[in-house]
Amino acid sequence: MPQLPYSTEAFSPVLSKESFDFHYGKHLQTYIDTLNKLVEGTEHENESLEEIIMHAEGPVYNNAAQAWNHTLFFMTLTPSPKAMPSRLAEMVKRDFGSEEQFRDQFIAKAAGQFGSGWGWLSINRDGKLVITTESNAGNPMRSGLKPIMTLDVWEHAYYIDYRNRRADYLKAVWEHIDWEKVAERL
Ligand code: MN
Repeated sequence: MPQLPYSTEAFSPVLSKESFDFHYGKHLQTYIDTLNKLVEGTEHENESLEEIIMHAEGPVYNNAAQAWNHTLFFMTLTPSPKAMPSRLAEMVKRDFGSEEQFRDQFIAKAAGQFGSGWGWLSINRDGKLVITTESNAGNPMRSGLKPIMTLDVWEHAYYIDYRNRRADYLKAVWEHIDWEKVAERL
């Protein structure tokens, strides 16, 4: 389990402690526990999470990718956001026009993902920033992208605090993205 670098009470009312208790404490813990059981005694036992994601299928892939995706998601949040570092801000401006257009495009795509999944910001093979969505446990590494930020759009990510209002959840959580950490991943 990744240890969170913040208090789970620090985001209220944007994300409640109850939401973290379920999302981090139960959903992520279950993916990790399930993966550890599934890989025991198999070829995947000593592989890195990334190796498993790139090569495994079925339940092993699903639980490994969900462990990785959630770790990136939780490590992307901060209770005290700061401005986007200049290197990332310049790439955002180059590839989306402005920070506002980037935000609007990301939220529109993530809100429009049909069913469970993830909104992603990745670097493509040409070094450009790209916004994609993935269903269920999907991870952009499988498509040759390098993911640097993600927002969870499974209902379990927002139903406790936002019920069915996925776009409101995305807009609120957007204000708590740690752009310094995202920039470090460049
Ligand atoms: Mn989740």
